[in-house]
Parts: sequence; structure tokens; C-alpha cells
Amino acid sequence: MANVLQQALALLEDVTPLDTDCGNVCGGRCCRPSADSTGMLLLPGEETLLSDAGFSITPADGGHLLICNGSCRRERRPFACRVFPLFPYVGEDGIVRAVYDPRSFRLCPLTRNCAHVRLRRDFVRAVRMAGTRLMRDPACAAFLREQSREIDDISRLLPFLEKERPPIARRNLR
Ligand code: SF4
Ligand code: SF4
Repeated sequence: MANVLQQALALLEDVTPLDTDCGNVCGGRCCRPSADSTGMLLLPGEETLLSDAGFSITPADGGHLLICNGSCRRERRPFACRVFPLFPYVGEDGIVRAVYDPRSFRLCPLTRNCAHVRLRRDFVRAVRMAGTRLMRDPACAAFLREQSREIDDISRLLPFLEKERPPIARRNLR
């Protein structure tokens, strides 16, 4: 359902985690290609939307993986890059919340310093709204649920992240 996907991507078009470019702090780590980079998992249908954007896209377990060379046209960046380092987490209650993605912990200083660095409210809100929009599409909803259970599993290994998460990302914002 390209429409829902396009709407979700559009919600995240202009928002950024901080007022300033957070890439200036870390040297743009999340965009730097690395030897152990496995790529980013795309939302169902995103592989079609991005097929002409110049990325390498390959089928993988759970969907399609996108691998970039460290640069892209901002308006064509995938969903995973738009929400990073957050994720629209679907709770067991079915409610979408914007949470720090524990899979970003190793890479992103914003996640490691989440108790001290406040993210922009419009960014957090856009992540949650995009997730809520995606829940209208069964394939995207299944994807978000599956990823959220994976986040549950990883979070059990990083319990301090749960405790340190600032209120803006912990609250139910629906
Ligand atoms: S790794 Fe984190 S702080 Fe660095 S550019 Fe990416 S989102 Fe920003
Ligand atoms: S697709 Fe673009 S935003 Fe995403 S990691 Fe690559 S260069 Fe960065």
C-alpha cells in the first residue's frame, strides 16, 4: 500500500533529532559505510518506492535490505534512516510509541546519552505518527510488530536504556 507508506515517509521528511545537525557531533556515523554493515531493513513496499533511487537493494530474511554508499538524496532516504535512532514501537496493547531503538546503542551517541540529550519534540511526534499511519497497512503493521518484539528481546539485554529513556519517548503520546 504505497499511499500509507508515502504518507509515513512524508511525515518524516523535514524533522531532525536535534536543532543542529547531530552528524556534526559524531561525524555522521550512521551514514558511514563500514565493513560489518549489514544494511537497513526496508518496510514492505519500500523496495519498490526506492528502486530508482540508486541504492543496492537485496531480498533478505524479513523483507529487503538496503545498502548505501554513504550518501543519498535526503528526500529519498529510507524509513529506517528517517526515524533513527528511534523506532515506532508497537506495544502488546497495540499502541505505537516512539522509543529509542536499542539496536542504535553501539552506533549513536544520542541513544547512549539519552538521559542527558533531549530530542526535538516534533521529531519524536513524527516518528510516532508515522508508525500509527503505517499500522493501517497490514503488511507494515506486521513488520512493525515483528520489529517491536525484536526490540523487546534486545531491551532485556540493555535494561538501563529502558530506565534512562527520557519521558518524551516513554510517554504514551497517542
Ligand atoms: S549516529 Fe546518531 S548522532 Fe550520529 S548522525 Fe546518526 S543519528 Fe545523529
Ligand atoms: S541512505 Fe542516506 S541517510 Fe541512510 S545511511 Fe545511507 S546516506 Fe545515510
